[in-house]
Amino acid sequence: MIIMEIIDQAINILEEHKLCDNCLGRQFALLGTKASNAERGRSIKMVLTLIGHKYLTSDKARGENLLRRVAVNGFFTPALEILRTIGLELNIEGKCEICEGIFLKKEEIARKIALELDKYDFTNFLVGSKVSPRISEKEDVLRSIFEINTGEALKAEINREIGKVLTVITGKNVEFDRPDILIVLEVEDLSLSIEVNPLYISGRYLKLVRGIPQTRWPCRECHGKGCKRCNGTGKMYQETVEEIIAKPVLEITEGGESRFHGAGREDIDARMLGNGRQFVLEIKNPKKRNMNLKELENIINAHSEGKVRVMNLSFSNKDEVRRIKALSQTSSKTYSALVELKDPVTLEKLELLKTKLSGETIRQQTPIRVSHRRADLVRMKKVYKLDYKILNSNRFELIIQGQGGLYIKELISGDEGRTEPSVSSILNTEAKCLELDVIKVDEQT
Ligand SMILES: [Zn+2]
Ligand SMILES: [Zn+2]
Repeated sequence: MIIMEIIDQAINILEEHKLCDNCLGRQFALLGTKASNAERGRSIKMVLTLIGHKYLTSDKARGENLLRRVAVNGFFTPALEILRTIGLELNIEGKCEICEGIFLKKEEIARKIALELDKYDFTNFLVGSKVSPRISEKEDVLRSIFEINTGEALKAEINREIGKVLTVITGKNVEFDRPDILIVLEVEDLSLSIEVNPLYISGRYLKLVRGIPQTRWPCRECHGKGCKRCNGTGKMYQETVEEIIAKPVLEITEGGESRFHGAGREDIDARMLGNGRQFVLEIKNPKKRNMNLKELENIINAHSEGKVRVMNLSFSNKDEVRRIKALSQTSSKTYSALVELKDPVTLEKLELLKTKLSGETIRQQTPIRVSHRRADLVRMKKVYKLDYKILNSNRFELIIQGQGGLYIKELISGDEGRTEPSVSSILNTEAKCLELDVIKVDEQT
């Protein structure tokens, strides 16, 4: 009979094995919802105690034997009490064979974790654990001998039970997908390791001066080790947009290091104006996470000496990094370029340029200037719109709206024929981009 199966399994297990309430209950974890394994284990032991008690009147030896097993191997006081009434005094000793008593220590473990977490600012956490093969094998063997197929993993129960206690102590919630803090408990020796997930802050930045790269460039000479050329800094450029933005954030969060994820990047000598460019700043190992982002924005802008401005700061996540990376491939950008020609140009020719390039697809082979770090490919990129403003006979300003990834300097110069058509090829003279600004980034979300 199926109902008796559970009873028989439990009696057989307790005949040979010492199991706490949790470890017995866990073998039946898939049965009954909204109950803890400790409740399952206790209930089964209680039923066995009632059965044993009933047997005492009809088959004393059988009843005594069952009560003895439940009391001694199940650490179960109600069974012990009944045996005491018939003059049997037993000692309950030893510990659970599988968990070795970890569930009895869950409050103590949670308090130890809470003490460690005191150093950090967090709103949620997740407890994980590592169970050594020595321990997990004991449960595997038990399950195969007693044909148990209703159990759950020991570590799942440890994580849940310690998480519950920790929730009470800290007042913070368990978060499965993106916890601020991941605590890993080594079950073998109860040691802890704490992984703090990065803090992500997204926003938009403006770069108001030329000559600053977006992110760190290792020195070409020493590859970052530090040499004469870079004054021992290991850097090609002393300042970056990333450092200017990250410095105050690292101080406030007491974080380890930063990573900067931009939705694309402008050239070092190009400004980033208009509505700015989206970015996500990632701070590794932050101790503080809670801060007023409007204040942070003011601090960054006050310390950037007019070089960089940030706006629209908000707390973000890893998915946003992926999203803005993808966005940079598709979003169109509008540039303002100052162009100088070798030969004078007429208004007529500039009109022709405007008609020819607006809506045109440009064939661009990887530019010579980036060929050392980019694969040599041919890309087809669109110029959506083009307009001009004449400054003198051989200088004019171009306003170009182009597809993400379109190289503007090469669109102007032709890059020795690698970009076609180009301003140079259409005007039939050498053309050079003197200054370049990104004046708008359009994101289709
Ligand atoms: Zn146990
Ligand atoms: Zn160097």
